[in-house]
Amino acid sequence: MLKISASPLLLLLFGLAGCSEPSTSKLQSLRVSNDMVISRLTADQETTFVAARPELQGDCVSHIEQVTCFSQSEDPGFDADCSFKAVKPELFQNLSKVIAELPPLHQKVFCHLDRLQIQPGLSTIGYASQIVNEKHEPIGTMIGFREDALKGQNLKADLESWKEQLNFGFSDPKDPSYKISDQGPKVEQPIPQAEQAFVLYVLTHEISHLVDFMNNANKQSWTESSDQLIWTAQPDSFSMLSWPPVLTYDKDMQKNPPEWVAASPWLSQLCYYGCNQVIAPVHMLDVYQALQASSFFTAYSANSPYEDFAEASSAFLLKPLGFAYRVVGPQQITFFDLEVSWKGKQLEAKRKWLLDFYNRSDLQYKY
Ligand SMILES: [Zn+2]
Repeated sequence: MLKISASPLLLLLFGLAGCSEPSTSKLQSLRVSNDMVISRLTADQETTFVAARPELQGDCVSHIEQVTCFSQSEDPGFDADCSFKAVKPELFQNLSKVIAELPPLHQKVFCHLDRLQIQPGLSTIGYASQIVNEKHEPIGTMIGFREDALKGQNLKADLESWKEQLNFGFSDPKDPSYKISDQGPKVEQPIPQAEQAFVLYVLTHEISHLVDFMNNANKQSWTESSDQLIWTAQPDSFSMLSWPPVLTYDKDMQKNPPEWVAASPWLSQLCYYGCNQVIAPVHMLDVYQALQASSFFTAYSANSPYEDFAEASSAFLLKPLGFAYRVVGPQQITFFDLEVSWKGKQLEAKRKWLLDFYNRSDLQYKY
């Protein structure tokens, strides 16, 4: 068995994704979670990227304008052909309001972003990416956003409910009209004191992924055998508050780790964008009852320790703006209410962990 620590994990993961040594023309992106990607640049691309990287000089909005480009790619990850010429000023109309509403550390991360990649045809609403060089050393941060979502357009569609209903087969990941069913769960996620609630939530979530990667909130080591990858969490890892300390993955990472299935038979079935096997609607109540009894802030948290940290951070940090989260079933039955968990014992340890974490003065906000 080969022992691997956090940084060479990237090496392992890139190997896992079937990527061979990098070609000089093609960069490699690896999804480590639904909307968290590691983008690996070639040596030439690294040189270009580092040379073109603007420093923040005072004004956050003009910095973001400088680092924003348009990509035709539908996939998450750094696009070497992203165009810096096609940026339209109206894209930034609401941005200063959103920036002002971001939690302090998240504001710093966002204002030091190395790239904001706008992708009109993106397959998810947004994603975060750590940019690494050929040696797998982190060199930058990036966020990708679907154009309509960033502009606040097309939001008449209930994207959160559409995403939730993917789990039960009520909605279709390829449906451009984001149709939902009255028979499926609906997500209510208001932030009454925010002007740009939806964009604020998505940005806070994506930036939380970057905060996690820059500061090792989820602290793990990986060991590799011929057909398995084993995640072992360190005792002070955020993941230890909800996940088994050891998670054994098959190398294709298609199946849930058996430790997670045993610990959480209902929540481990939540699958979102990657549903090969949806949950029978008759079991909706079982799933959300398990969620209410769990130490998760939202249903999406149960997807991976990375999503757990991003969702918990977002709920925790946006709570002062009135953030609430409910899942409501047919006939307006409340399936899950974050407020109930918040007042109960379930979230106590995580809230304490997050409070201590975000009170640290040494947290990294850029590479
Ligand atoms: Zn995420």
